[in-house]
Amino acid sequence: MQKSKRFLQFIKSLKFRLILLILIIAIAPSLILSVGILNSYESRAVSIRESEILSQAKILANQIATSEYMSLGNNLESSTIQAQIDMLTTIYDGRVIVVDNNFRVYHDTYNLDDHKMIIAEEVIRSFKGEDIIHYDSENHYIEMTIPISDPNDKNSTIIGVMLISVSTDNIMINQAYLRQIATIIVVVVGIAIVFFAILILLYLLKPLAKISDGIAAIKDGYGEDCLQVNDYSETIQICERFNQMLGRMKIMDDSRQEFVSNVSHELKTPLTSMKVLADSINSMPDAPKELYQEFMEDITNEIERETKIINDLLSLVKMDKSAADLNVSTVNVNELLEQILKRLQPIADKQKVELVLESFRPVTAEVDEVKITLAITNLVENAIKYNRNDGEGWVHVSLNADHQYFYLKVEDSGIGIPEESLDHIYERFYRVDKSHSREIGGTGLGLAITRNSILMHRGAIKVHSVLGEGTTFDVRIPLNYIA
Ligand code: ADP
Repeated sequence: MQKSKRFLQFIKSLKFRLILLILIIAIAPSLILSVGILNSYESRAVSIRESEILSQAKILANQIATSEYMSLGNNLESSTIQAQIDMLTTIYDGRVIVVDNNFRVYHDTYNLDDHKMIIAEEVIRSFKGEDIIHYDSENHYIEMTIPISDPNDKNSTIIGVMLISVSTDNIMINQAYLRQIATIIVVVVGIAIVFFAILILLYLLKPLAKISDGIAAIKDGYGEDCLQVNDYSETIQICERFNQMLGRMKIMDDSRQEFVSNVSHELKTPLTSMKVLADSINSMPDAPKELYQEFMEDITNEIERETKIINDLLSLVKMDKSAADLNVSTVNVNELLEQILKRLQPIADKQKVELVLESFRPVTAEVDEVKITLAITNLVENAIKYNRNDGEGWVHVSLNADHQYFYLKVEDSGIGIPEESLDHIYERFYRVDKSHSREIGGTGLGLAITRNSILMHRGAIKVHSVLGEGTTFDVRIPLNYIA
């Protein structure tokens, strides 16, 4: 099992694929070349053999025609021709048949068909003056039929036909020998290429192994904090991307740890206050009823605070989930704003802050009503909470829209936010003035919830603030929900 898995892994590896590729690129041309050369060797050798034999046969045919070989039979001249025919057959390992003009075999070097009649198609065609050459590649022999006629005869009378068949076995033997050598060369070259390819690839792929080892070391915690393999520009790029990702993960991890410690601290604070209050009341058995009531009121306030923190945290956790959790419906934003402001009016009255709503046009949008209500409530509540308390404070909420977005502006005449805090106000548990925020019941989670809700709706939020003069939050949300 383990072995087959490792084998599969090797088959899938870049190393194996590159070796295969190099092998194909290197071996394929030499294979094609050797097959091509061997095939053209055969046709070239056969055609040379054919022309050699044809020219010799022609000479012989002329000699036969000019001599009286076929008419007189045994004399000196005819025995010379006989010797030449025998030489031809010996050199080329073949057979010569001379046929006279009666289609009768005059001479057969194999002495098999002497005096027999041969009325083959080739013989008839040659009697008409045609040279016929045929190569039988399966049985490896060349067949040739040529007319015998006297070149000095004006009428070119054909007195006979010469049939020659020669074996091409020696050509085949040479070809087989060459094929053997070619195969040996291709195999040796292949082995050498694979060997060098493995060496080169091991060297070239080393940086990839370094990256893999580096990541494993970082994962196991004994490596350095960042990956660095500078061998190729590609590895540099991979390392850079990996280090960026690592950095982001570290930031996320830090912020998660900070969030957990903040949550613990924030949840502990009301509990500590309650314990102090309870302990002090317990240590005073004779305390008057009024004091008890006062302490109990304080404890109730702390319980309310604890509940608010837990509720805010739950809202935030819900917002951290994917945008798919949005419960989108078509909402009349003007009515929604009126309801929110109506609900907040008592707090504004208590703070003596004037609350004004200005709607420039009727707006309906596809939003999650609960989450968007939470976002707007937090903004308006902050504008009331962090306002001046001389009775001159005001909060202006305005609503406008175009064909794509609706725009909400929450403007106040409050204490403002220092410039250095502007970048932090959306962080969880961040408060410009911790004790002031605590005094007025803030948890430091409101703006984090607001921002998350707006981002889930693919919207945007911007803040502008002048210390001591006031703050403006601008919100932009698409009218149609973009999934
Ligand atoms: P909190 O629950 O403390 O109000 P938020 O997340 O809502 O927490 O706001 C973060 C901090 O930003 C607040 O503690 C406050 O210092 C500052 N802040 C928010 N809104 C305003 C505002 N309209 N005017 C002045 N300061 C503000």
